[in-house]
Amino acid sequence: MAEEQRIDLLFDASDEYRPEPPQPPEIPAWKDGSQRIGIHTSIAGDICGALELAQGLGATALQIFSASPRMWTRGTGRIAEADASRFRARRKALGLGPLVIHDSYLINLASGNPVLRARSVQAFHQELVRSLALGADFLVAHPGCCGADRGIRDSIHAVAQGIRQAARGLKLGELQILLENTAGQGTSVGSKFEELRAIIDACAGLPVGVCIDTAHLFASGWDIRRSEGLDATLRALDGAIGLQRIPVVHCNDSKTPLGSRVDRHEHIGRGKIGLEAFERILNHPLLAGRAFIAETPIDKPGDDRRNVAALWKALGREVTANGADGMKPRRKKAARRSGQSRTQGKAAVKRRG
Ligand SMILES: [Zn+2]
Ligand SMILES: [Zn+2]
Repeated sequence: MAEEQRIDLLFDASDEYRPEPPQPPEIPAWKDGSQRIGIHTSIAGDICGALELAQGLGATALQIFSASPRMWTRGTGRIAEADASRFRARRKALGLGPLVIHDSYLINLASGNPVLRARSVQAFHQELVRSLALGADFLVAHPGCCGADRGIRDSIHAVAQGIRQAARGLKLGELQILLENTAGQGTSVGSKFEELRAIIDACAGLPVGVCIDTAHLFASGWDIRRSEGLDATLRALDGAIGLQRIPVVHCNDSKTPLGSRVDRHEHIGRGKIGLEAFERILNHPLLAGRAFIAETPIDKPGDDRRNVAALWKALGREVTANGADGMKPRRKKAARRSGQSRTQGKAAVKRRG
């Protein structure tokens, strides 16, 4: 015993073993404070192709569907882990982000039809599972439409309840669900900011925020064409929702006029909102740090490239695309490998949220 104590005394304090401090969590490249411009790209053929497309278009962020947006997925609707890990690795290598996933058009959590509702909850659960597998940052969801027989209060409750059911048992980690504001078409929920806020409040404990779509804002009556109108809109958003809850902005010009309540996207600068308005939106100090993502139509080859370039130009940057644009058909081999039909992909190209 005495021997051991003497050894202790001879021990130099500087030799003391100090465990390495725990490594801080790795900060993804897209959170480096640089400006993030993205576009919705197709997963047709091979899901990793969406990453190559986005990068080739000069985008630094992207949005995708994680399955066909017009078909109910069969079985579990899962992505094979080999494909998901390949996707995560490639995205990391390209430094693309945030990765936004848009949910299926078929999902309607506000539906009063019990069969459609049950399917929607299940499909939204699958959306969350796929988003987690792909390492997505955000899952954008349309709140849904309630039908004439149902009041807005019941619909808000139904949407929130549906999200909670779908998320049950899942560890969402860094993934955030973003409710998208709607144009106010028909009985759609979520064209009023207060409705989005009410859903968020009813989802307490879950990471739920908002994605604002410029075309939907305009169609629902917010005149964002001029400086005063944009300021008033942002004030209203801040008051009702809180701008810190809005990390993503869908940048779409509008084919339809102010207050039309009709959702028709147009190329940046070619619609009723106009280029100057987009310059103000992208440079607005209250929107600093947001990811701006285009969901513009593809009418002819080069449209995606031009829309991405237009958003960069609004930020005062000249960015030239170096890759193929969204019109080029993907390779056949890749389509077979991922087991996804080419028609599924085509649907993904044609319409965007
Ligand atoms: Zn949108
Ligand atoms: Zn839309």
